[in-house]
Amino acid sequence: MRVGIGHDTHRLAEGRPLLLGGVRVDSPRGLVGHSDADVVLHAVTDALLGAAGLGDIGEAYPDTDPAWHNADSAVFLRETLSRLRQAGWRPVNIDVIVFAQEPRLGPIKAAIRANLATLMGLSPEAVNVKAKTGERVGHIGRSEAIACQAVVLIERTEDRGQTSEVRGQRSEVGGGQALE
Ligand code: MG
Repeated sequence: MRVGIGHDTHRLAEGRPLLLGGVRVDSPRGLVGHSDADVVLHAVTDALLGAAGLGDIGEAYPDTDPAWHNADSAVFLRETLSRLRQAGWRPVNIDVIVFAQEPRLGPIKAAIRANLATLMGLSPEAVNVKAKTGERVGHIGRSEAIACQAVVLIERTEDRGQTSEVRGQRSEVGGGQALE
């Protein structure tokens, strides 16, 4: 098993749609970014990449690439899950905190959780979404931005992965013996 962490922040501005975890949220302001700026999907994608040792979202989907202009961030998540599958990993559970002064996310948390579970192929019990305000201080508290933190656990899917884990353990044992 491995663990990964993701964090992201995007600025709020008039005239942008607000997407959180792939859910369209009714708000006069939305997040600014090269893609659809879905801060939740970006943090989750980064957590998955981190857990699998596959770098970060900026390397995988650079914001200088016109292909990702106004992109649906679910594409990043799906493609990252595919990369994990190819590397022999699958997600086990995820815990997410969304930091937003406004809009109030209490009524929206369940929809974000359900959509994340669908996107990740997990049961809703394996996906947790928490919401925090910024206590009216800092960039979150002044409603200048929304941020998200995500932690994900992943496990091996197949014999190939388990074999390489065993190999890793053997080589560690070998290393220990060599030191003796
Ligand atoms: Mg981002």
